[in-house]
Amino acid sequence: MNNLPFTKPSIDDETIAAVVDVLRSGWLASGPRVQQFESALADYVGGRTVRVMTSATAALEIALAVAGVGPDDEVITTPMSWCSTANVILRLGARPVFVDVDLDTRNIDLDALESRIGPRTRALLPVHFAGLSVDLDRLYAIARRHRLRVVEDAAHAIGSSWRGRRIGATGDLVCFSFHPNKNMTSGEGGAIVCNDADEARQIERHRFNGVERIGVDGLEVHFPGMKANLSDIAAAIGIGQLRRLDEFNARRRQLVAHYFDRWPADSMLRLPARGDDGHSWHMFAPLLPLDRMKIDRAEFMRRMQSRGIAVGVHYRAIHTLATYRKLGWKDGDFPVAERIGRETVTLPLFPEMTLAEVERVIDAAHAVVAESRA
Ligand SMILES: *Cc1c(COP(=O)(O)O)cnc(C)c1O
Repeated sequence: MNNLPFTKPSIDDETIAAVVDVLRSGWLASGPRVQQFESALADYVGGRTVRVMTSATAALEIALAVAGVGPDDEVITTPMSWCSTANVILRLGARPVFVDVDLDTRNIDLDALESRIGPRTRALLPVHFAGLSVDLDRLYAIARRHRLRVVEDAAHAIGSSWRGRRIGATGDLVCFSFHPNKNMTSGEGGAIVCNDADEARQIERHRFNGVERIGVDGLEVHFPGMKANLSDIAAAIGIGQLRRLDEFNARRRQLVAHYFDRWPADSMLRLPARGDDGHSWHMFAPLLPLDRMKIDRAEFMRRMQSRGIAVGVHYRAIHTLATYRKLGWKDGDFPVAERIGRETVTLPLFPEMTLAEVERVIDAAHAVVAESRA
């Protein structure tokens, strides 16, 4: 039996040939492929302006800066995400204000969010967890009521939609990731969907040392920007992937439907919220019944590995990481995120997976839980 990774990118021969073309072209840094990738992404999100960079981490940091977030501002965000969602707030000298999440959607609780808005709040930074959109109507109603900027962490959510509106097609600043684990990749990469040409120009400066080119030989530096421009090599991969994104996401939905259909009715594992057709299923991560098991999660993962199945963890609650504990956060602050952080296991899900492999994962996970019942 083959070993199953928990995720795997699908790169076709056409994309590989396009990368080779770039390598032979003599132009490897940001050039025509980056422009082509940006305009293809802009088409994908209904004609809004898009700029690409080397990661979603860079995208989030730049988007917050463009939104005017700086020292002593507060940004409301979720403790259940990859660490960079909150790290970028600290990097700008601002303070994250965490709001706990729902156990099944893993998305930020919008009722609790509104009560945490204060005089220093500058922006809202929600995550569309695993590709399940937050309620965009309510989110933007809150933002308008309190005159706040929104930066959507859509690292999981390219191709997702909310009530038929594609993520990025509406809203304020929306950030995507093209890390190889995400629904589409450029090797590494990220993008910001922004509002107008002025914001696009600001993003261009932030991603390239703060530089503005003037005339034929002139140049000005307005602030010490990052060095986060994407290469044409990466953009060529992204162009090939974007062409197939809808196909990839359709396959993910089909595989997850099979997970749900074949999931035992008396399962002790807790399924994530199912959402609707707008869910792009970046990952499939049920919760382990640890309080009814004699083994811990690490041992569950080892036993799955010994059956040839890799399992991931997404994510430890951010406020329990050392950087955040040093700033005063502690266990008990956000109990739902902490519980997810302890119990979550990401099971294999990627477009090249088969329906039979889904069944193999379900059987293995339930066999390991059954053999270790307390
Ligand atoms: C992957 C991820 C990021 C960071 O993306 P990179 O492109 O790796 O920097 C940010 N937020 C979330 C929710 C992610 O999953």
